[in-house]
Parts: sequence; structure tokens; C-alpha cells
Amino acid sequence: MNVNGDCFPNGVVINKDVPEWQEAVYNWDDGYFKCTAVRQSSTNPVYEVTETVETDREVIQSASCTQPEITTYTAEFKYPLFETQKKEVETAPASGHAWGSPTYSWAEDNKTVTATRVCRKDKSHIETETVKTTSKVVQEQTTSLPELTDYTAIFNNPAFARQVKTKVVTKPALSDSLYVKMNRLYNPNSGEHFYTANTAEKDYLVSLGWVYEGNGWNAPEKSSSPVYRLYTPNAGDHHYTMNANERDMLVKLGWKYEGFAWYSDDEKAVPLYRQYNPNAKSGSHNYTSSKEENNYLVSIGWKAEGIAWYGLK
Ligand SMILES: [Zn+2]
Repeated sequence: MNVNGDCFPNGVVINKDVPEWQEAVYNWDDGYFKCTAVRQSSTNPVYEVTETVETDREVIQSASCTQPEITTYTAEFKYPLFETQKKEVETAPASGHAWGSPTYSWAEDNKTVTATRVCRKDKSHIETETVKTTSKVVQEQTTSLPELTDYTAIFNNPAFARQVKTKVVTKPALSDSLYVKMNRLYNPNSGEHFYTANTAEKDYLVSLGWVYEGNGWNAPEKSSSPVYRLYTPNAGDHHYTMNANERDMLVKLGWKYEGFAWYSDDEKAVPLYRQYNPNAKSGSHNYTSSKEENNYLVSIGWKAEGIAWYGLK
């Protein structure tokens, strides 16, 4: 490159004999407020041109929750041996979000919970996480008590707190519409025990002298295990069994099959024990959910015949 010996800024005089220049070197000060350019002769480092300029600054990106402030510094030199320099610098860090309090929303079936929090500085900044809950039955369903379940949700994001819902009714108590109260009656004359869900039948038998002995057990309204009722006109006695073979055998012996008496609980919640009285002509079988009653009858000569069917809790 040719130079012509003109006087340049900073009072540097370029010798006409200098034929070539090395690459220019640019040095910024710590705050990027100034930039110094230096260029030396390729053949003789004594020949050196230097120029220091103040920079122009422009913020090209403001700081936000997630992005830093970025400033461009521009150094423009008067001396034609130097080229304009630009530097992009992070001049302030991202400010970070200002999260509001988390909100939690449960699915209707309590199987999932969604946690959400929104940045107060920018409502489009949203953090959200949906997790599956764990559940635990804390009270079993019975005829009088509903099934109660506790649900717990634990999030991966530590900003979201563990959520708990306790004692949620997950099944109703078995109401009258779902189970049948079995009335137990006793005939002091024949010694027969009789069981019926039919209140009118119960009241009629009581009017004939039968003794109402209370609720024998609770039967499911329906199940896959029917209990068959049979009647023998000779002894005037009823018999109940889940065993179809026993039913058919009794029919062959002259018993009358009267259909389904009630249903046994498929979940086998409460066993009904059957005892046989070898001395009785009629009412030779007793059925009870009470183990104590079963054991008492056995102690006075009855024969334990095991579990006849099952009632509900
Ligand atoms: Zn934000």
C-alpha cells in the first residue's frame, strides 16, 4: 500500500518509503469506551501508525427475564489504514422471572394435578407441570361407610409444593338400593330359621307367631353367585344352598325349587356359617354370620357344615 507522507491524526507522519503494512491490531479498553488501532510496517517495525478513538454505544437488546442486555460498541477511525470495529457485549445479565404463587388444578377424577406459575413481569412466561397422583384407600366401603381415598401429587419442579387431597369419597356406602337387608326369623314351634329380604313377608310371619331375630346379614342386590331356595312340603322346611348339585339332588328327593333366594357376595366379605341339627325334624339348618353362634351351636350338639354363602360388610 502506498502512503504519501501526509500528516495523520495523532501527529503520525508516514514515511513515503514504507512499502507494506502488517495487519492492523485493535485494542479495546476495559469498558469498551475507547479503541486503539496499531499498524506496523512489514519491513521495519519502527514505522508504526496508531490511532485511539472513543466508541459509539447502542443497546441492541434490553435485559429481560431470560435475556441479557446487549450493547454494540463501534469504533470509527479517521485514518484510512484502519477499518471500523464493532463489538457486541453483554452489558447486563438477564433479570430472571418474578414468579407469582403457584396454582394447582386437580383433574375431576383426582388422577392428575397440574401446577402453574406465571411471571409477574410478563404473563406469557408460564411454568407448568402435570403429574399423576398416587392414591391410597384409607377407609373401605361397607354398607354404612363410603370408601375414602387419599391422593398425593409430587412435582419434579421444586417450586411446586406437594399436593394432598384426603378422604375423598371414591365409593358411596352401600345404600339400601345396593344391598338387601336379610331379615332373620325363628319359628318357636318348628325350630326353623327363615330368612327373607321382603319386609311384608317378615311382618306376615311375625303375625303368625314367628319371632323376628333382627338383621341376619346384608346381601348384595346382585352378584354372580345366587343362593337357591328350596322347600319341602312334608316337613314344611326351607333349605338354602349355593351348590347347584345339592339343589338338584334335593329336587330329586321331592323338594320344590323356589328360585333365587338372594345373592352371595362375590368378594366373600362376611361368611355365613351353616350348622346342622341332627335331632331336628324340621328347621334342621341354621345360618349365621356370627362365629360365636356357630361355635355355641356346635358345642350343644349341632354339626358345623362350613360356609354356606357370603354377605357384605
Ligand atoms: Zn418472566
